[in-house]
Amino acid sequence: MSDKSDTLDDLFAHNRAWSAQMERDRPGFFTSLVKQQTPRYMWIGCSDSRVPANQITGLEPGEVFVHRNVANIVVHSDLNALSAIQFAVEHLKVEHIMVVGHYGCAGVKAALSGKRIGLADNWIRHIQDVRDRHHVMLESLPDEDARVDALCELNVAEQVVNVAVSTVMVDAWARGQKVKIHGWTFGVHDGLLQDLGLSVDGTQPLDAAYKATVQRIRHKWSKPGEVVRSVGAQGTQPKAEGTDQA
Ligand SMILES: [Zn+2]
Repeated sequence: MSDKSDTLDDLFAHNRAWSAQMERDRPGFFTSLVKQQTPRYMWIGCSDSRVPANQITGLEPGEVFVHRNVANIVVHSDLNALSAIQFAVEHLKVEHIMVVGHYGCAGVKAALSGKRIGLADNWIRHIQDVRDRHHVMLESLPDEDARVDALCELNVAEQVVNVAVSTVMVDAWARGQKVKIHGWTFGVHDGLLQDLGLSVDGTQPLDAAYKATVQRIRHKWSKPGEVVRSVGAQGTQPKAEGTDQA
C-alpha cells in the first residue's frame, strides 16, 4: 500500500486536516484570506525542498509573497522573476524583498565545480559568471567547503544587485516608494537565517554596498575554522532588518 496514489491521497488528507485545524484555531481565517492578500514581504529563494519560506520565518498564508527558482537567481531577461517582483512592488506594495540563498546549494556546487547536469547548465551559467568574477578570491580560500559557502553568499549579493537595478525597483524608488532589498542566507544544517548585511533602499550607492559585502565575505571565509554559521544570525523574523549598512 505504498504506491504513488496512496502517497498523494495522504497529501489531500493532510490538507483537509490542516484546513480544519486552522479554522478551529482561527475561525474565519480563510474567509479573510479570500478578501485580500497584504504581504509586507517578498521572498526570492531557491527551489530546494529544504528551504520553505513560510515555515522558516513563521509566516502564515497571506504574509509573504514567494518566488523560487534553482539557486535563487534573478536574471534581467527572466520575465517570470521580474513579473513577480513587479506585482509584489507595484500592486502588493511589499516593504521588504529578501534574496535568500542557502548553504550547500546544489546549483552553486555545480556552478563551482563545472559539473554538467543537463539543461539547467544554462541557468547555472549565471552563477558561474559570479564565480568567474570572484575567481581570485575563491581560489584563495582554504578548502572546497569554504568556496561553496562563499559562492552561495556571493551569489546572493549578486542577485540583490540584480533586483536593485531592475526597472521595477528603479521606478519604485524614483517615485519615492519605501521598499528595501536584503541579502540573506539559510543554514540547512541548523535552520537559521543569516543577514549578510547587504540591505539597500535606493538611497545609498549600490556599488559601495556590494563591494563592502564582498569584502566581508572574503574575510569571513578566509578563516572558515573561525566561522560559526549560526552566530550573528538576525533571528528568524523578517522584521529584523539589516544592521550593517555597508
Ligand atoms: Zn539551492
